[in-house]
Amino acid sequence: MNMVNDDLLDLIESKTSETLRTLTDLVSIPTVAPPGDNYVRIVEYLIQIFSNLGLSAENVIIPDDIFKQRMKNPQLRGTRANLHAYLDSGADETLVIYTHLDVVPAGEGWTSPPFEGTIRDGRFYARGSADSKAAVAALLTTLSAIRELDMKPAYNLNIALTTDEEVGPYSGLCYFADSGLLSGDYFLCMDGESDDLLIGMNGILTWRIDVTGRAYHSGSSFLGINALEKSVALMNGLLRLKEEVEERRSMTPGSPVIFEKIGVTHVKPVLNITMIESGIKENVIPGTCTIKGDRRVIPEEAFDDAISEIETALKSAAGPETAYDFSYEIGYPPISADPDHPWVRQVLAIANDLSDRNILPVGTQGSLDVAYAINITGQPFCCHGVGRLDESSAHAGDENIRIDDLVRYSKFMGLLLRGDRGQRSQIKHETISARSPLTEDAAVGRWCAPSPDPASLR
Ligand SMILES: [Zn+2]
Repeated sequence: MNMVNDDLLDLIESKTSETLRTLTDLVSIPTVAPPGDNYVRIVEYLIQIFSNLGLSAENVIIPDDIFKQRMKNPQLRGTRANLHAYLDSGADETLVIYTHLDVVPAGEGWTSPPFEGTIRDGRFYARGSADSKAAVAALLTTLSAIRELDMKPAYNLNIALTTDEEVGPYSGLCYFADSGLLSGDYFLCMDGESDDLLIGMNGILTWRIDVTGRAYHSGSSFLGINALEKSVALMNGLLRLKEEVEERRSMTPGSPVIFEKIGVTHVKPVLNITMIESGIKENVIPGTCTIKGDRRVIPEEAFDDAISEIETALKSAAGPETAYDFSYEIGYPPISADPDHPWVRQVLAIANDLSDRNILPVGTQGSLDVAYAINITGQPFCCHGVGRLDESSAHAGDENIRIDDLVRYSKFMGLLLRGDRGQRSQIKHETISARSPLTEDAAVGRWCAPSPDPASLR
């Protein structure tokens, strides 16, 4: 792609110090969740900027009763403010642009102050830099460049910068979806990494089994019913089901990092036993045992089927004297976008045109609030952010982004809003279909790079 003498890209690049100033302002407002402080402050700051750029912008506050009823989290306090901005550019189609404004607590491991913004060795360090305020700063620079050049974006823009993503389960984005504020033809999620284009995610349900026995003196244990020992059979039944479940594969390709680690090419469902609680003393037969876990469903699975197969597995594993109660709670749904959708291919092509890496459309094993929104709106979607999975330390000490990546992301946004088609998506898609990434030189570094498990970041 010929990037020489591109007015928009040149102007965006010349505004790098402006982008860094905006990012410094954003990270200096510590929107730490929990508790979710300073939401009003950051939203008011953004309303000012968006208004100056010619967008209509408002503070959308989640009503207290809805917030309390859906979040049930005593750690949270303060007004649930969210930014909603809109630009009518007279286009036929509308693009929804989303990310979140809250950040996780600073925690340990910082070599510079987490809420100031420090530039060092070509990087910008601060809590929330990668996850995900850099994308907001990049978007604002792009909008300011577009305005200076008197351009009209190729889409009307419906912008949702919401809060409580890091705590869930009912984030500002969920409220926007329920309130009809996310209308548009396509959905770009700026939360995520620059390593790939996320087009799918697993759904999650959490489950609980309460086994009831009869507590007794352990010396005459045969006169009681040991709920802990009874639960072993149930857990073995679940482990047999786990093996069967985890053989399944989604049509959605998985993260190259996971491929590199365990050779699995596509997103897979999982069933986990994660908690057990029973017993008060070595010489007392436990009368109750509670086992808990989760089940991640791939987009091709239904929650109902996942639930009934657990129930069937428990029924056939339980001994004659085993009394138990199975319950569950359904969380974010699974979603996936068609990697061949013209808009998804366009985003992918633009991202690849600007990157020296091989960006692939992949699904994540994790579950995100974006799924709640897309499940309602049904829009073609993808997630692409600024940070890097193996460098940015999202949720850890010394969170950072490469300043190059920040500029690259502003340009990515510029080309997307200008309506460029991009050039490299066809090549990329064939690569992904063949699942032979090592044939493409550019991919080698990416597929071999040691990276943290992406699930640990989400
Ligand atoms: Zn995030």
